[in-house]
Amino acid sequence: MTYVAPIAEQRFVLETIADINGIAALPQFESATPDMVEAILSEAGKFSANVFAPLNRIGDVQGATWRDGNVTLPEGYRAAYQQYVAGGWNTLGAQPDHGGQGLPFALATAVMEQLQSANMAFSLCPMLTAGAIEALQAHASPALQQIYLTKLITGEWTGTMNLTEPQAGSDVGALRTKAELAADGQYRIKGQKIYITWGEHDVADNIIHLVLARLPDAPPGTKGISLFVVPKYLVNADGSLGARNDVRCVSIEHKLGINASPTCTMSFGDGDNCIGYIVGAENAGMRAMFTMMNHARINVGLQGVAIAERAYQHALWFAKDRVQSAKFGGGRAPVRIIEHADVRRMLMTMKATTEAIRAITYYTAATVDRAHGEGDDDKRSQATLLADLLTPVCKAYATDMGVELSSLAVQIFGGMGFVEETGAAQHMRDARIAPIYEGTNGIQALDLVGRKLPMAGGKHWRALFGEIRNFIKQLPKAGDLGQLAPYLDDALEALNTATVWIVGNQQEAADDSTAAATPYLRMFGLVMGGYLLARQAVAAEQRLQNTQGDAAFLKAKITTARFFAEQILPQAPALLGPITRGSALLFALDEAQFLVA
Ligand SMILES: Cc1cc2nc3c(=O)[nH]c(=O)nc-3n(C[C@H](O)[C@H](O)[C@H](O)COP(=O)(O)OP(=O)(O)OC[C@H]3O[C@@H](n4cnc5c(N)ncnc54)[C@H](O)[C@@H]3O)c2cc1C
Repeated sequence: MTYVAPIAEQRFVLETIADINGIAALPQFESATPDMVEAILSEAGKFSANVFAPLNRIGDVQGATWRDGNVTLPEGYRAAYQQYVAGGWNTLGAQPDHGGQGLPFALATAVMEQLQSANMAFSLCPMLTAGAIEALQAHASPALQQIYLTKLITGEWTGTMNLTEPQAGSDVGALRTKAELAADGQYRIKGQKIYITWGEHDVADNIIHLVLARLPDAPPGTKGISLFVVPKYLVNADGSLGARNDVRCVSIEHKLGINASPTCTMSFGDGDNCIGYIVGAENAGMRAMFTMMNHARINVGLQGVAIAERAYQHALWFAKDRVQSAKFGGGRAPVRIIEHADVRRMLMTMKATTEAIRAITYYTAATVDRAHGEGDDDKRSQATLLADLLTPVCKAYATDMGVELSSLAVQIFGGMGFVEETGAAQHMRDARIAPIYEGTNGIQALDLVGRKLPMAGGKHWRALFGEIRNFIKQLPKAGDLGQLAPYLDDALEALNTATVWIVGNQQEAADDSTAAATPYLRMFGLVMGGYLLARQAVAAEQRLQNTQGDAAFLKAKITTARFFAEQILPQAPALLGPITRGSALLFALDEAQFLVA
């Protein structure tokens, strides 16, 4: 079962939720005309389906292999990557100064979704490169940008992100990799990083590692971290490749999924000669790394969308094909399983939730575009605050849904879902990493509650809730759209109550608000999903009235928003109790009582 890019859906979400035409009106993004958007979505969709998707299975079965420090990707990967570079796909979102097309992040996000759906393991390579580009654009010196950006932007070189060490996972501040300024005026890096995605491979000529390390007298914790560019091959003054740097891949991991994405243990400076170039100021590395991580967090949220879409397409195809059992109360003839109510429920849940998380992700990406591109200071700062608020919601809610929905797809396949040959199991195995890396979803929830809600005195969440409240008030009183209002209203008021409770408890009862973080983030995701699907339903209704667009698609939008509101969104108010009950019960058992002896 191959992949078909959902172009009509992506375009609709870009137009109605990301307001791509409004973004294209900002001077920085004026090339994102409707024709350009359509052409890019359609060509990237073909590329993803025809070049990346056919390699998904072979990547899972063969995986990346390590030998003597070199990593070999499965058959076809190098050629496919060369095609990706030749097609200019890597240049979409990067700034024009060094050869980027300067298109909106929201549009690059839609293209990245296609690549991720087609082949999640492969798409991690361009995804990390995009993060490295972002960090260098924002923080590197012009000289460093000059040397590294052009080839990262074309994709001829790829990028990595090196934070994790054995003792420094969620707690990045515990990292020990050292950096020291040598007599030649260059830094030397020494240490080991683990789990480095695409840290070594054979699909591109050079690998540019962005590495967090600590200078000799740096303060402890995150305040003493600096960021360095560490190229696999040093670069000569004329831009050609020079000597091999003192960095190597010691091993790769054997994993549950994304087998074609090499997850590397990297050793820097075994020969005391690993050269690094500082990005930004000494001890200011976390700020620079956050640029990269925020970008990556939205793109990882997008992996939840992408894998859910792929699993949905696969399960839908199976549900239309598989004949099993007569319909309950409907005679003896067996029917295709799509006719059974329970299978319908699973398919509708997949469809509605995938569309909800897509909307949240594109909306967040568009907010990042506005944070960069708005001319007015106030609008820029509002957009920055909103992007900050929504990034953890997007990352964690969308990736949790990626896992749940790919599991539902396996359920729709029945026994055939559990055997590997159908490929349904691969989606579920691949999806499982996304809630873990780029800050676990538990850490995202803490970030939302502890850092994001209190920002700017909470004016950003108040503004967002106010916007949703106004939207609900303006929904028609009757008809399909009117039916959405009470569900949205209940969910929003529960979110408001939970937010006030959490903010109020932050100082006096920190344990209570951290205990609430994960169910609170889920509630936030549900409300955003319900709201953005309802907005799509309103836009669909308007287009239907103007007889503009495909009527079947537009009517499905309204029905899908209703399904989400009536069948899924009621989970949000139901979470208010668990959120506001505090932490006491979590700690009521002694550790010894966890054991059943
Ligand atoms: C396939 C793969 C690819 C990766 N790619 C990269 C990469 O390219 N670059 C890179 O630098 N890293 C990468 N990582 C590392 C990844 O980001 C970490 O695994 C992740 O951040 C979690 O760290 P950890 O594994 O040490 O788990 P831990 O930090 O030990 O966490 C274990 C559990 O404890 C919880 N926990 C920890 N601290 C807290 C807290 N304060 N409050 C509540 N709960 C907490 C976590 O949520 C988690 O459930 C990758 C990992 C994998 C598996």
